[in-house]
Amino acid sequence: MSTSKQVNLLDFDVDGLVAWFAGLGEKPFRARQVMRWMHHEGCDDFDAMTDVAKSLRAKLKELAVIRPPVPVRDSISADGTRKWLLDVGNANAVETVFIPETHRGTLCVSSQAGCALDCAFCSTGKQGFNRNLSAAEIIGQLWLANKLLGAARGGPDERAGDLEAGEKDNGRIISNVVMMGMGEPLANFDNVVTALRLMLDDHAYGLSRRRVTVSTSGIVPAMDRLRDECPVALAVSLHASNDALRDELVPINQKYPLRELMAACQRYLERAPRDFVTFEYVMLDGVNDSEAHARELVALVRDTPCKFNLIPFNPFPNSGYLRSPAERIRRFAGILIDAGIVTTTRRTRGDDVDAACGQLAGQVQDKTRRTVRLKQATEERS
Ligand code: SAH
Ligand code: SF4
Repeated sequence: MSTSKQVNLLDFDVDGLVAWFAGLGEKPFRARQVMRWMHHEGCDDFDAMTDVAKSLRAKLKELAVIRPPVPVRDSISADGTRKWLLDVGNANAVETVFIPETHRGTLCVSSQAGCALDCAFCSTGKQGFNRNLSAAEIIGQLWLANKLLGAARGGPDERAGDLEAGEKDNGRIISNVVMMGMGEPLANFDNVVTALRLMLDDHAYGLSRRRVTVSTSGIVPAMDRLRDECPVALAVSLHASNDALRDELVPINQKYPLRELMAACQRYLERAPRDFVTFEYVMLDGVNDSEAHARELVALVRDTPCKFNLIPFNPFPNSGYLRSPAERIRRFAGILIDAGIVTTTRRTRGDDVDAACGQLAGQVQDKTRRTVRLKQATEERS
């Protein structure tokens, strides 16, 4: 039986578990052994850890649990994208999405129940904010997805063709993780970094730094901390080519405007595992998608090595925005490409199960009273 005093071992990175084991008078190699049982084998039962001494197993059963979030819904899209709704307690639920592709399998992981940053076009933002996810709830998404995909070991052979020089295939179906689910990862810095360390550690998931991506709306001081503490691939949600427009679409811009954001990207690249930043840019019909915007963008990123990923807007009820027409997206991409910037347009995946970018809503008990404020504002207007 579990009690509230028991610690959840999924909350620890390797150093953390070694320190906790030291408190029990146990050697570091024991901690690493348990780490491998948990994360390589997907084991949540101390009794099954057969090469761990019985006395230690008994101690662990008394003091600890291995508890991932509980899946409450499993949706599979016609294109193979899979979305899980995970119960994180107190009537909150977050979403995790698995996107299979020929050469890789990507898991899109959430970092918060809701998001306080309130970007104008984002369904998560519109829900308000409840709380940060714990490290166990973040890494638990990878733990669970591996398990539910039947993938603790044995990824597709074709992936070998996608490996870059020096990369090793760790034989898992999930080869890439993107922190692009619900929430702003850098607003939950410590827990996200603990989870990132587990993703990278050979005793846990052993993913390449280049295959783990943090996406941020641009919290500049936290970008510097990430560079210093756990540099992984970086994606920045740009979405606008000038401050006036970005202030409106991505309100955190009012605090960290474009000049500061670009400088932070350049500092990040000094330590990043990849030599470019990926700029995400949502294509909103008649808002940020003109040829003039594209030219302004080219000038904006002149000194920042980057790639662009254009995301056709994914609609959700009452968003107030429309997706740019395909032809306009093509023209916009053409201007960036002609300026020498590698530009891709994100294929919409899983939209039949509301799993596409920006559609993740989960279930959030708003603690910011945003919903109430919105309701009042609507009533005042009518
Ligand atoms: N909070 C982080 C990561 C989560 S969102 C961030 O903002 O970067 C992942 C990406 O989806 C971001 O680029 C986000 O701006 C984008 N996005 C949000 N809502 C969207 C929508 N409705 N359609 C398309 N992309 C959206
Ligand atoms: Fe939060 Fe990202 Fe959505 Fe903005 S786009 S509200 S930062 S989750």
